[in-house]
Amino acid sequence: MAMRQTEIKKTKTVCTYCGVGCSFEMWTRDRHILKVQPVADAPANGISTCVKGKFGWDFVNDAKRLTTPLIRENGRFRPASWDEALNLVARRLTEISQQHGGNSIGFIGSSKASNEEAYLTQKIARLIFGTNNVDNSSRYCQNPATEGLFRTVGYGGDAGTIKDLQKTALIIIVGSNLAENHPVIASHIKQSHKHQGQKLLVVDPRRHEMAERADLYQRIKPGYDMVWASAMARYMFDHGYADEQFLADKVNNVAEFRASLEPFTLEYASTLTGISVDELAAAGEMIGQAESACLLWAMGITQHSHGADTSTALSNLLLVTGNYGRPGTGGYPMRGHNNVQGASDFGCLSNVYPGYEQVTDSAVREKWARAWGVRPEALSDEVGADNFMMVQHAHERKLKAMYIIGEETAFSDADSTKVHEAFSRLDFMVVQDIFMSRTAEFADVVLPGSPSVEKEGTFVNTERRIQRFYEVLPPLGDSRPDWQILTDLASRLGHPWYYQHPGEIMAEAARIAEIFAGVSYARLEGWQSQLWPVTADGSSTPLLYTDGFKFPDGKARLYPLTWRPPMEEEDAEYDLLLNNGRMLEHFQSTNQTGAGGRITSLSPNWYVEIGPQLAAARGLQEGDWVKLTSRRGSLEVPVVITERMAGNVLFIPIHHGKPGVNGLTGEHHDPDVRTPAYKEIAINLQKLDRP
Ligand code: SF4
Repeated sequence: MAMRQTEIKKTKTVCTYCGVGCSFEMWTRDRHILKVQPVADAPANGISTCVKGKFGWDFVNDAKRLTTPLIRENGRFRPASWDEALNLVARRLTEISQQHGGNSIGFIGSSKASNEEAYLTQKIARLIFGTNNVDNSSRYCQNPATEGLFRTVGYGGDAGTIKDLQKTALIIIVGSNLAENHPVIASHIKQSHKHQGQKLLVVDPRRHEMAERADLYQRIKPGYDMVWASAMARYMFDHGYADEQFLADKVNNVAEFRASLEPFTLEYASTLTGISVDELAAAGEMIGQAESACLLWAMGITQHSHGADTSTALSNLLLVTGNYGRPGTGGYPMRGHNNVQGASDFGCLSNVYPGYEQVTDSAVREKWARAWGVRPEALSDEVGADNFMMVQHAHERKLKAMYIIGEETAFSDADSTKVHEAFSRLDFMVVQDIFMSRTAEFADVVLPGSPSVEKEGTFVNTERRIQRFYEVLPPLGDSRPDWQILTDLASRLGHPWYYQHPGEIMAEAARIAEIFAGVSYARLEGWQSQLWPVTADGSSTPLLYTDGFKFPDGKARLYPLTWRPPMEEEDAEYDLLLNNGRMLEHFQSTNQTGAGGRITSLSPNWYVEIGPQLAAARGLQEGDWVKLTSRRGSLEVPVVITERMAGNVLFIPIHHGKPGVNGLTGEHHDPDVRTPAYKEIAINLQKLDRP
């Protein structure tokens, strides 16, 4: 019988798979998700979506969803009521806080949950436990990029909008596999590259799809992008391409920065990066001659032991060429998770309140204390432990309890063996998630949250755009929206909160945090959106730095750097380098995309990519199994032979396996921001005798 149109419910939602922030209608009948329908009004994507946004929703009704709270008893989980579970959580956290202090507890908020949920996570940590031990997964990916922007231009977000990318003369992509990680932005760039004469320059160790399409592709040795960017900056000065007027009017530290570029000749850069002097000069000419340029980067840059420095070097290059403050210019760190930008914007960071207001600033602390109705002394003035430090402190038994929301830390954090040991040493652990994740397996209490389609809220995408999403379906079973769980828990901790709707949480954040001053649910209704900073009258800022940079004198800062090589490189014993990243069809640990259904069938297998020359030298055929061994561990995987890779560099997707790629990654990290150096893995390879 034909389905009657009236039986179908159409609800606006926002995709939860990447930072592009595609919005669309979800068509449902009862609990059945019938289809995802793109809508021209969608501000970030229009009628475009990718395979994940279109088909990646079978997890919502998956039988493995958590539908009731669980309490560990005698080593096994048993179902519990919400009262019992939340009372236990409140009692144990209170006991631990009273015995060891608030800093003995750490909170990791979710970059997949809403802004309102991020806000409540940090509010519980700061207000109730007096600790700044709160972080989110931007520590794993985008924190170095934000640091680079803070050092040079002042705001921790993309300079302009996704649409602005089509206005630029030159797109530079460094360390980002855009076509698989941000497919809709990639498709917009493909259009402007093909039809508007836009130039495309790609720098990457892997010849991925955008590299194939580039006017100029430079295959760089992994971890040497800072040298490339600094050599380009020097080339601009040496060849008359520096925007001297822009530098004189709008930028500080020019002479000091220029002097710091002295070592970065093309010859020096060529020796380190593996790119010839002629190729480097060609890139310099392309950048120097461009009327305007946007520079996109992602985890190929940030997941190194000097990711913050390389991000800084990229932003330095944009300043030298005057590429900030005009449409079609600026730095665009590509945010990975759907709300990694928002989780940071709304304060799930160990050093800042929502709106990037410093916890060490006494005036800021007084403002937040006043707004929350406590004395300033109740709020900590010390920067807290971030994600990396929390794991270290747990390992050293200094941290006694952790509360992790929607993050698969046991799989996604580097050096997973050590992470598992750290979790095992905690006195108490709470995990709030939609599946029994690998992380939840370590918990004492597991609380079933709801995915975005079962609640209301807002996300911030990579272009700083705040968008509402609406409840498509009611929460499954006894699961609850995370903001309701946190509100209920706060009351049991002696802080009765009365939020009835996430809009009230946003209204509170907007009242206090300056960059959200004019944000409101009314102004975000339907397909409307706002891009922060939002002034009190509700006006957005689509393009940053048109009236100066976010420093007291309004001038940007060129930031001199000294080159530091990667902390782990190939040697006689571990003679290969293992790069890693995402696949188009999957998301992180595959808890969502691997939950059976259509998207799983599109890309079920794991592999390691090897270049043809290396494969021939090692006697490898397509499909052969190999054992990859680092200083931390090993894994076994079949081989794909491809021109995407060359030399002694291999590539492996991050999504699969037990232990997965983080059985091979190590403790080394960026000392400035403590992001693990996921991309610095020296390995050796052994061919296995198995089919
Ligand atoms: Fe979702 Fe990103 Fe794909 Fe858009 S591009 S549909 S936000 S995964």
